Amino acid sequence: MPTRYGRSPWIDQFPKSRIPTYPAHRGPIKVDAAIVGGGLTGCVTAYAFAAAGIKVALFEAETLGRGTSGASTGWISEDPGASFVEVEKLLGVRKTRYAWEAWRRAALDFAAVIRRLELKCDLEPRASLLLATTPEQAARLSREQKARKSAGLDAVSVKGPAIVAEVGVSNSVGLRGREGATMNPYRATLGFAAAAAASSSRRRCQPRRCFGRSRGISGSRARTSRLPIPFRRRSGIDLASGQPLFGIPPRRRTWSGGSMMNDC
Ligand SMILES: Cc1cc2nc3c(=O)[nH]c(=O)nc-3n(C[C@H](O)[C@H](O)[C@H](O)COP(=O)(O)OP(=O)(O)OC[C@H]3O[C@@H](n4cnc5c(N)ncnc54)[C@H](O)[C@@H]3O)c2cc1C
Repeated sequence: MPTRYGRSPWIDQFPKSRIPTYPAHRGPIKVDAAIVGGGLTGCVTAYAFAAAGIKVALFEAETLGRGTSGASTGWISEDPGASFVEVEKLLGVRKTRYAWEAWRRAALDFAAVIRRLELKCDLEPRASLLLATTPEQAARLSREQKARKSAGLDAVSVKGPAIVAEVGVSNSVGLRGREGATMNPYRATLGFAAAAAASSSRRRCQPRRCFGRSRGISGSRARTSRLPIPFRRRSGIDLASGQPLFGIPPRRRTWSGGSMMNDC
């Protein structure tokens, strides 16, 4: 597939006629949890709440899945992508091993949920190879491999000829990841949103209409341009965005309790 900078193949290849639209948020709503941002994080979180029977609203300012989620590579890595050696210096071996194991479990769980929900997002198990091509990188990778191995983690090193055969890069060493996966992140995001909506309607939640242009969230009350959204006692507000939400700028499209809300 040719690289086209600034364009997402996931979004480009998705049939326009199948892009979900949801009605705009209008009027006050009462929910247990409000989620700001309909990217992968927000949609998965909405699904988790809805599946647990918790009344939830998801607010999206633009279009579901078209933030960083729709532009990502869709790699579900079983590795946090940080240096074990460096983190171990800060946290010690026990906590670092725990972080790596938790990440691995999360990656496996995430793929398992996608499979269980039968989301059509081209999920495939995928091995990875972290390559070192300079002597300095090779020394760092070797320390990394030893530290992970002595902590009891999976750390398989791969040497020259095997790497040449696999990826055609000579004079390099590598660290193998064996439990990752890839997916179409845009389809996964839409799939989780649909699963959240379906899960809510199975639980007979009333579709609730919300409206856009939120101005801020304070305490247990979300303020919008028209009316506040009251939350029940012990309710939560989740902010799900790949970017900082200083001041919480407007949001326009909303999913709530079984239905998604679109542009105002
Ligand atoms: C090029 C690239 C490749 C990546 N590859 C990977 C990868 O392979 N694997 C991986 O795990 N991660 C990857 N990431 C990171 C990953 O994409 C992001 O961490 C993840 O998709 C973020 O999802 P999100 O839902 O948090 O944010 P987003 O997808 O950005 O969603 C945030 C949403 O919030 C909405 N929003 C913002 N403010 C408001 C508001 N006030 N009201 C309402 N809505 C609002 C936005 O419109 C947006 O839709 C990659 C990122 C990039 C940029």
